[in-house]
Amino acid sequence: TSSDIAPEGVRPRPVVDNLPKYAAGKPPAVIEGLTSYKLSSNENPLPPLPAVLEAIADQSDINRYPDPLATKLRNALADFLGVPADDVVTGAGSLGALNQILAAFAGQNADGKADEVIYAWRSFEAYPICVGLAGAESVRIPLMPDGRHDLEAMAAAVTVRTKVILLCTPNNPTGPILTAEETERFIQSVPSGVVVVIDEAYQEFVRDPEAVDGLQLYRKYPNVVVLRTFSKAHGLAGLRVGYSVAGHDITQYLRVAATPFAVSQIAERAAVTSLGHFDEVIERVQGLVDERERVVAGLRELGWFVPEAQGNFVWLNLGEHSAGFAELAGERALSVRAFANEGVRVSIGEVEANTRFLELCAGYTNPPR
Ligand code: PMP
Repeated sequence: TSSDIAPEGVRPRPVVDNLPKYAAGKPPAVIEGLTSYKLSSNENPLPPLPAVLEAIADQSDINRYPDPLATKLRNALADFLGVPADDVVTGAGSLGALNQILAAFAGQNADGKADEVIYAWRSFEAYPICVGLAGAESVRIPLMPDGRHDLEAMAAAVTVRTKVILLCTPNNPTGPILTAEETERFIQSVPSGVVVVIDEAYQEFVRDPEAVDGLQLYRKYPNVVVLRTFSKAHGLAGLRVGYSVAGHDITQYLRVAATPFAVSQIAERAAVTSLGHFDEVIERVQGLVDERERVVAGLRELGWFVPEAQGNFVWLNLGEHSAGFAELAGERALSVRAFANEGVRVSIGEVEANTRFLELCAGYTNPPR
């Protein structure tokens, strides 16, 4: 009978039972007389470029599947980045690209044991979910007190089961970059059979001249893969376009693991057009970087400890006060991202939003030190 085969009722894989749900940034509270601002998802607050809106207005071909290889976008990226188009693999956001890497390189093995994926913690919230769903085991290495990766501890954590290491620069949610020098030393210190992912979702916001540029390293090390996205600087989060850049040793397997047709023709057109207007994109990014610098300087003037902020967000090490601070922000129609008993991440938004955030901080009595 069927009861010999399966118990009554559907059950998920144990890993699915135990994973936290991804907690997306919440919309801000509606408060009369106050414009609401969402500072909880590291989005670009500016509307799409007019040229992008024009490019996606043509939807006459959506009865057809998109080009599964996103050839136009990969060619445009190849020109833009100065890399071979074959080294670029697109996905539904850089999260889609990350899932390809994990699906191809880390999971459950024939012996029933899980591969290990090392990453810093706290880092991007989706990492534990993606790693767990791939069937692999997360090895989380605590950040240093200033929000930087502890690369020495990460290298020391490598075992024979380590298949992938995720580096996040600038690190979401704390903000610091990895330097070119420390990253290269790190890559040299881990076995060349371990895939090292450099997640550069916020790359266009970085102004620190010491910061790593993953593209320089991927050219030298066949086990390095760089992740980038159109969600942040290009402001196309809702269209879901991201990509990885790596050599053939890696991309040949990413193409096998990729969800077919992940990038729609509309998303592809938007991304190609945005790349074609990069001068406008970068002008807007500079405005956000200027705002970031204003916010960080304002907080430091108040005597707050703020780690180096190189993305489009700042990190407040508020510990046990995190939830309370987020609540106060909500009372001012600002949504921010609280990580219980750790800290609060606040995205750089519109000028008025940033000013209101600074005013909130000026009146707040438990500043991070
Ligand atoms: N990596 C990092 C570090 C991020 O912060 C994010 C978005 N919050 C992503 C990847 C995923 O972005 P997307 O899938 O929209 O490209």
